[in-house]
This record gives sequence, structure tokens and C-alpha cells, in this order.
Amino acid sequence: MRIPKLFEKKKPVFSLEIFPPKKTTGLESVYKTVEALAELEPDYISVTYGAGGDGGKLTSEIAGKIKREYGIEALAHITCINSTEREVKEMIREMKDNNIENVLALRGDIVEGKEGVGEYHHANELAIEIQRIGGMQIFGACYPEGHPDSPSKEQDIQNLKYKIGAGVQGLITQLFFDNEAFYEYVRTVRRAGIDVPISAGIMPITKKTQVERTVEMSGAKLPDDFKAMIKKYQDDEEGLFSAGTDYAVKQIRDLIEHGVDGVHLYTMNTPEVASAVYEGIKDLLPQRIEKHVSRQEKTREYAAV
Ligand code: FAD
Repeated sequence: MRIPKLFEKKKPVFSLEIFPPKKTTGLESVYKTVEALAELEPDYISVTYGAGGDGGKLTSEIAGKIKREYGIEALAHITCINSTEREVKEMIREMKDNNIENVLALRGDIVEGKEGVGEYHHANELAIEIQRIGGMQIFGACYPEGHPDSPSKEQDIQNLKYKIGAGVQGLITQLFFDNEAFYEYVRTVRRAGIDVPISAGIMPITKKTQVERTVEMSGAKLPDDFKAMIKKYQDDEEGLFSAGTDYAVKQIRDLIEHGVDGVHLYTMNTPEVASAVYEGIKDLLPQRIEKHVSRQEKTREYAAV
């Protein structure tokens, strides 16, 4: 199913993000995660790219299986900056052969020692290649608080227009904790004439290490109540789990009340966190459009053929 169509039919579109294992030996654990996440009736699950440096094979494999066996639409991430043109083209073809209909076209972060490897320099160039040889529906990333490489937010939005011009039909934001920054960003993006749906990327913070790694890397502004929460619970694992998921629930409820197009939950492959957040927002989520086909039902279907 084409994910952009979903945005025409419901609001908000609810999606979950997972990452592949570093090695194929971790696949079983990822599928257990998917099985648990399927219970949350997401409209689609996105699978990140880059963990194993395997040319996107695991991303493609997992995204393909999410569609085939779990009956959930998948969005496969693809990056370009650390791969050659040949590798990128192979990756797109591999995903196409695997019936992936939706991709998130990304530049990727520049890896030390690999500078200059990529022949595509920005996500818009990748999006054009995907259109040319893949024909998939294309999504892109955007940054409510500005991309770290960008000289200004204005320049960032100008660059965002290149992505839209290259065929990007929907956007997913970098994580953020300050909804006001998101609302202001959406207003600016709309004033710039960009009218594709924008999903808000939300990451529940439930571990102290996430603050040090993920949050600091993202450059997201930390509101005072968020900082107070971390300070209060930094040495209390259970307390931080509950306060961190509550914070995400509050953020999402406010976003939905403000008419957000989509909610994209960074699950960090932890179904317990995703479930806790889902419980707090499910009353505001419209039903999934396509009936979820359970793994057992699918297996019976295959057996009957
Ligand atoms: P771009 O759109 O190319 O933008 C990067 C910078 O270049 C920005 O400063 C922008 O303003 C500027 N720019 C853009 N286009 C042009 C142009 N034509 N000319 C000049 N300047 C330009 N990383 C992974 O490795 N794997 C993943 O799976 C992954 N998933 C992600 C999912 C989401 C929702 C988000 C928000 C990020 C994800 N990332 C992932 C991280 C992402 O790769 C980095 O943030 C990366 O630094 C930028 O990627 P981009 O696609 O936004 O790049």
C-alpha cells in the first residue's frame, strides 16, 4: 500500500520505527519485537538503515517480512552518503525486488574515514534516483530545530524544498521534546509552500544513557520540565520509565489535539515502552484502515494455497 494514501484517509497516521540487528543472528529478536509491536495496530512500521553496513540487506529483509508475514505496511530507510552510486542502485533494486513500496530517502550521517565515498551528496539526489529506478513512494526527514549542518533554519527549509521537488511525498521529523518548536516549524514550512504531510517523530526517554547519546546528538532543545524529569529520576530506573513514557504521552496527546498529520514513535526496539505510550494515546487514534492479518492467519492462508 502506498503510505501517502493513508494520510489522505486518516489523521493522525500512527507509525513505529525499529532498527535492524547488527548481525543476522539478531534477527529472531527483531521479529519478536515486530510481533509485539503488531499488537499496537500501527499504520506502518519503518526500518532504519545502517546498523550492519550490509548495504541495506537486513533493512530490506525485515521490511519485506513485516509486509508479507505481519500484514503491516513497511517503510524502508535508505541512506546514500557512505555508499557508492553502484551500491545505492543495488540497494534500491534489492528493495524493489522485495516488493518494498515505500522508502525514506536519507543522506545519512557522514562517517569518519568514509568522507567522499558517496556520489550522492543529499537526500534530494537519492530521491531522484529512487524515482528513476525504484518507482517507490518517497518520504524524507526534516528538522524542527534545524539540521546541525545547516547554517540557518531558513536555509534548511530552502533545502527541504529541493527534497519536495525531487518527489518526496511526506516528511518525518527528527525527535523533539518541545511541541511549540514543532508548531512553529510546521507554520514556517507551510508558509514556504510545502504541503506534504509531516509526521512528528517522538522518542520516549526511559534510560539515562539515551539522554547522553541520542538526545545530545540530535541537538533537540530540552524544555525545563523535561530537564527536571531527568534530574529527578536519573538514578531510578522504574521512575524514569514511567516519567519518560508519560512525557511522550503528554507530548503526543497535545500534538493530536493540534491536528498533527502523523505520529512516528521511535521505539528503540523496546515494545514495553511503545506499549506504555500506546496505552496512553490509543483513545485518540483512529482505527487502522487495513485489517491486521495475524501471523497465524497468514500461515493458514499460505497452507491453503
Ligand atoms: P539532507 O536532506 O541531505 O540534509 C542534510 C543537510 O544538507 C541539511 O543541513 C540540509 O539543509 C542540507 N541540504 C539538503 N539538501 C541540500 C542541497 N541540495 N544542497 C545543499 N544543501 C542541502 N540515518 C541513518 O544512517 N539511517 C537511518 O535509517 C536514519 N533514519 C532517520 C530517520 C529520520 C526520521 C530522521 C530525521 C533522521 C534519520 N537518520 C538516519 C539521520 C539522517 O541520516 C541524518 O540526520 C543526516 O545527517 C541528514 O539526512 P537528511 O536525509 O536529512 O539529509
